[in-house]
Amino acid sequence: MKTKILLKESEMPTHWYNVVADMPNPPTPPLGPDGQPVGPEALMAIFPEELIKQEVSRERWIPIPEAVRDILRLWRPSPLYRAHRLEQALKTPAKIYYKNESVSPAGSHKPNTAVAQAYYNKQAGIKRLTTETGAGQWGCALALAGQMFGLEVRVFMVKVSYHQKPYRRSMMQTWGANVYASPTDMTNSGRAILAKDPNSDGSLGIAISEAVEEAAGRDDTNYALGSVLNHVLLHQTIIGEEAKKQLAMVGDYPDMIFAPCGGGSNFGGIAFPFFADKAAGRDIQLVAVEPTSCPTLTKGVYAYDFGDAIGLTPLMKMFTLGHDFMPPGIHAGGLRYHGDSALVSQLHYEGLVDALAVPQLETFEAGVLFARCEGIVPAPESTHAIAAAVREAKRCAATGEAKTLLFNLSGHGHFDMSSYDRYFSGELQDYDYPEEAIQESLKHLPQVDFNPN
Ligand SMILES: *Cc1c(COP(=O)(O)O)cnc(C)c1O
Repeated sequence: MKTKILLKESEMPTHWYNVVADMPNPPTPPLGPDGQPVGPEALMAIFPEELIKQEVSRERWIPIPEAVRDILRLWRPSPLYRAHRLEQALKTPAKIYYKNESVSPAGSHKPNTAVAQAYYNKQAGIKRLTTETGAGQWGCALALAGQMFGLEVRVFMVKVSYHQKPYRRSMMQTWGANVYASPTDMTNSGRAILAKDPNSDGSLGIAISEAVEEAAGRDDTNYALGSVLNHVLLHQTIIGEEAKKQLAMVGDYPDMIFAPCGGGSNFGGIAFPFFADKAAGRDIQLVAVEPTSCPTLTKGVYAYDFGDAIGLTPLMKMFTLGHDFMPPGIHAGGLRYHGDSALVSQLHYEGLVDALAVPQLETFEAGVLFARCEGIVPAPESTHAIAAAVREAKRCAATGEAKTLLFNLSGHGHFDMSSYDRYFSGELQDYDYPEEAIQESLKHLPQVDFNPN
């Protein structure tokens, strides 16, 4: 029985898959402050032209530049595993596969897009990139990619994570990046937050405001976002394309796919290449898994909202908890975002993508079970997908169904051991669904009466 299903380097995909080509309806456009769709030009202050073209492309296949493939080959193709020992522990007739994205140098799927973004910025003559990071995974990925292409990288790191994850900061510095605890007093956005709350823990939304503000104000500087945007999800589709080939090698095909969902990039990455088959009529369930404490897809509203806390970004139609929603300090820092990818949101709204919210303790329980069976210590974000797959595998054990399940192991948890410590010592808690805080922030949704017809 095979455990690792491996592709040769020569079998690494040569194109990214653009889900827009197979969506039943065109994507909703981002809107400017006047409530009208923003043209690609509006993004030129912070993104290179090639990425903006990808952001609005309707082409099904977009070639991966050779210079990007050269770097991706340092760890790709990533292995697909059959989780034999987890299946046995659960006494399930279900087959469980997982794609292991923790094998990248930064320890997650995020370098898949960081490398591409650094490449296109370098091509456009940019010298410096700014970005935000939550748990530190994205900052590490961009620091790595910046180093590979000789770009300076400046990272605004959410303050609560800056203190919880000091070694993530060291890792970014090893790859040559400069890292600041956000909110900082270096930007107007940061100073505005600190004036209201000097002890702010920060949030991804605030850090995005700081990074965007700085990039917009300098010609030699662009901004790079680790999730949410269409081009980011596009770059991640190499995950699902590889997984599809690997499953075909063992004659299998998933009934259900699970991935943790913060901004939607690793979910889109693994699920979209299979969406192509779903659009063609194949029966497959794509499940985005989120924390009950930041339940964007399951409890948010589908509306136009800002991508950041202050309101600097264009408005995107997405599931949102309100741009100033401050989620509890859960240990899956990468899942504490108020919104979600517009593409994932639209497909969820249209009933083509499913969502599930899982409480924190259940995710750690599943993560520990996974580590004890399969050996890999998963990132707290990834444990959400594991918990959902475990739930389904247990359900199959009860009904006798032999479903094929696939989940994305989006990263390892080697820098998250203090979170595991707190779980083992009983200090971790389940947060109630923060109903009041969500109701309050939803009152601040921008009023938009854009009608595409
Ligand atoms: C950032 C991150 C996530 C969540 O981000 P998405 O854009 O939703 O993928 C999930 N898992 C890991 C390991 C991450 O670093």
